[in-house]
Order: sequence, then structure tokens, then C-alpha cells
Amino acid sequence: LPVVVIAGRPNVGKSTLFNRLVGRRQALVSDMPGVTRDRKEGEAKLRGRQVRIIDTAGLEEAAPDTLFGRMRASSESAVGQADLVLFCIDARAGVTPADAHFAAWLRKQNKPVLLIANKAEGAAATAEALEAYSLGLGTPLALSAEHGEGIAHLMGEIADRLPEEVRASKARVLEDEEENERPAGPLRMAIVGRPNAGKSTLLNRLLGEERMITGPEPGLTRDSISVMLEDEHGPIQLVDTAGLRRKARIDQPLERMSVSASIEALKMAEVVVLTLDATLGVHEQDLQIARLIEREGRACVLALNKWDAVEDRTATRKAISDRLEISLAQMRGIPVVTFSALTGAGLHKLLPTVRRAYEIWNSRVTTGELNRWFEEMLERHAPPLVDGKRLKLRYMTQAKSRPPTFILFGTRAEMLPDAYKRYLVNGLRETFHLPGTPIRLQLRGTK
Ligand code: GDP
Repeated sequence: LPVVVIAGRPNVGKSTLFNRLVGRRQALVSDMPGVTRDRKEGEAKLRGRQVRIIDTAGLEEAAPDTLFGRMRASSESAVGQADLVLFCIDARAGVTPADAHFAAWLRKQNKPVLLIANKAEGAAATAEALEAYSLGLGTPLALSAEHGEGIAHLMGEIADRLPEEVRASKARVLEDEEENERPAGPLRMAIVGRPNAGKSTLLNRLLGEERMITGPEPGLTRDSISVMLEDEHGPIQLVDTAGLRRKARIDQPLERMSVSASIEALKMAEVVVLTLDATLGVHEQDLQIARLIEREGRACVLALNKWDAVEDRTATRKAISDRLEISLAQMRGIPVVTFSALTGAGLHKLLPTVRRAYEIWNSRVTTGELNRWFEEMLERHAPPLVDGKRLKLRYMTQAKSRPPTFILFGTRAEMLPDAYKRYLVNGLRETFHLPGTPIRLQLRGTK
């Protein structure tokens, strides 16, 4: 069996990770002949590949006194027989001198290494985790062994790095699919907008024209209802459609009601269709909802409904895009679809546009491509001076997708002025074709 060794200084969470990977299946403790220490070994199935996993934590106790001595003694023999080493650090503690020392030793062992930043639960810690890039062991994989976050992704990464000989069978691959980062389920879409934009009409039209594969079912919250549609690419789940049927209550100001109903719906969705009555143009409240979509990090499609009733279509379209350009720069390039929910004209463009927005929202840029682009951007416009000193921006990496989230590392990077941030975000949008999606750029100062 291929051997995967979990290494790293004490307390980074090696045993927790071991238990996560091996699971309850069988965690056996075996005696190592000739040495009177125990080490933990177990087997795990990762993407259909059976592997032996060794946790070096058990070896720490009896080893020499110094921290590094202990790490090294515990790991030397194990690393020697490893096909892959999972080198763990504690993302919350950052890169410690002991980590750096151990990494330097590990680099000389000529073994494939996967760098793991453990204890990275939540987005902030994920950012922290990427500091580990500086160890020279590739892009760190942020995860939380304790909370089970990122484990499925890790399993895939391990499987990809194993020696070839045993091929995974298709059925086994499928078995692990459900744990993938990108859920295998249907695309979740919500229709939001102000009262009278035509949301209910749109919903009914969609239900009439598309193949409905299930009737209304209780949704994710008590009074939401979800409906499953199907287009030629597969199922689409319309979430919180009950909100569309709810009638405005007299005692509630219209303004608050529409926005709060939208919040509920868009939180459950991956792609949000913001529906406008095109005859009325863009209202401040529409922008409010759009900003909410941006803040929640959802993909957005702008639906200009009642297009049948619009007299000067060219002028209307231009007025609306000009307004968006000015008021929604943070979502530049939102896809716009014009149609009539009443007659059905133009409606065939909606779902393909939703699908495209979903793909963009899921996109990934490789670290190599990203940093080649980043260097060009730095050459074109040097980072600004802050307090008389030029900021040293070093590299970028994409921490996650859904929505695309990037981290920029550099000395005093967190001081980067907004104008330069916008320059980078706009550049990302253009170069990597990310129109209309929220883009997150996090700044990380390094020493
Ligand atoms: P909701 O409050 O957003 O759900 O809006 P409704 O679906 O109830 O529609 C509000 C009004 O706009 C109704 O009188 C609809 O008949 C009308 N309406 C909806 N879609 C269209 C459309 O595409 N064209 C025209 N001319 N009227 C529409």
C-alpha cells in the first residue's frame, strides 16, 4: 500500500487529522520492532485508493529533548518510507521557527510533500493559513481537522499525488463525490426583486415551460418552498418560492418587506436572479438588493422583465447599464437578460445565463497563472508609497471559489489603498473572465 505520513511539530493537530482520515474504520496501534515506541497506523480509502497512514505524533514523547530533536526523531524513519508526507502547521499560530526548521529538513528528503495548514476554520483563518506559502513547500492547503472542513478536498489532493500503480475504480470515485467542495446537487437559484417586478409571473412561466421534475416541496426553512426544474444541463432548484406568493401585509412597510424577503431567499441560493420592472428603470431599492447579493457573495443575474412594455429598448438598456456601471462597480459586468415573463418572449435566455454565472462564480485560477498576471500588474503600476515607503507586494493565491476569493501577501500589504485594490480586482475580472461575480481580495501582511 502507498504510505502517507503525517508530520509536523507537536500540537498542530496531527492525531486529529489522522483520526479524520482513518475514521472509525480501523485505527490500530502497532509496535515498531526494534524500537520501543508506538506509532499509530491505520488504513484509509481516499477516492477509492487504499492507503496506509502513519501518525508520527506517538513518537514524540520518547525522543530527544529539544523540540526539533523530537520532531525529527519521530519523523525520520517514517518519512523514509513515505510515498507522501503531509506536513502540518497550525494556521492560527502561523509559521513558527520550528516549522521553518523542519520544513528545511523536509525539503532535503526529496519526498513529495503536501503542506497542510490545520486549525483554519472560517475564512479569516484560511487567509492566515496561506502565510505558510513562505515555507517553500508549495501552496498550503487550509483545513480544519477538528471541524472536518476541507477534509474531502484533502483526500482528493492526496489521491492525486499517490504513485500510479493502483487505479481507482469509477464506482469508488463516485462514492466520495458527495464530499467534494462543489456540491453535486442541483444549482440553487432564487428569484428576488421589488414587489410587482413580476417575480410570481416569472416563476409561473418557468414552471409552465420547463420540465418540472418535482412539485412544490417544503424548502430549507419553515415557510419556504422549493421547486425543482430541469433544463438540458440538469436540475435547477428554485429556492424560497413561497416568498413570492406571500402577499404584502398591510401593517408592514413595503420597503422593509421586500428586502427582508429577498435576504432570506438569496442566502439559500447560489445564483440570484434580481428581477426588475424594466419600464421603471433601476430603483434605489434594486441597488440595495444588489449590494446585498454582493455582500453575501452570491452570483447575480439581472433580469429586466416586462420588456414587452418597454417602448425605447435601446435607450432603456443603455440607461440601466449606465446606472449599474456607476452604482454597482463592485459587480461590474453583471449579465443582463431582457424578457417578458407575461408572454414568455426572450425567456429562453434566462437559464443559460444563470448557468454561465454559476460557472464564473465557481472558477479557479491556478497560482502560476495568477502570479504571472500579478507581476505584470505590478510592472504596469508600481504599488503606491505609504508613509514614504513603497509597499512590497509579493504574491497572490486564490484561497477559494464561490465567490472567487484571492489573497495578496506582502510587507504591510494590509495598508494597500483602495484605489490599488480596485485596480487589482478590475484586472482579475478582466484577465480571468469573472464578470458580474463578487470578487474578494484579502490583504495579508508578511514580515
Ligand atoms: P411580483 O410581486 O414580483 O411577484 O409581481 P407579479 O408577478 O405579481 O406581477 C406584477 C404585475 O406585473 C402583474 O400585474 C403582472 O401581470 C405584471 N407583469 C408581470 N410580468 C410582466 C411582463 O413581462 N410584462 C408585462 N407587461 N406585465 C407583467
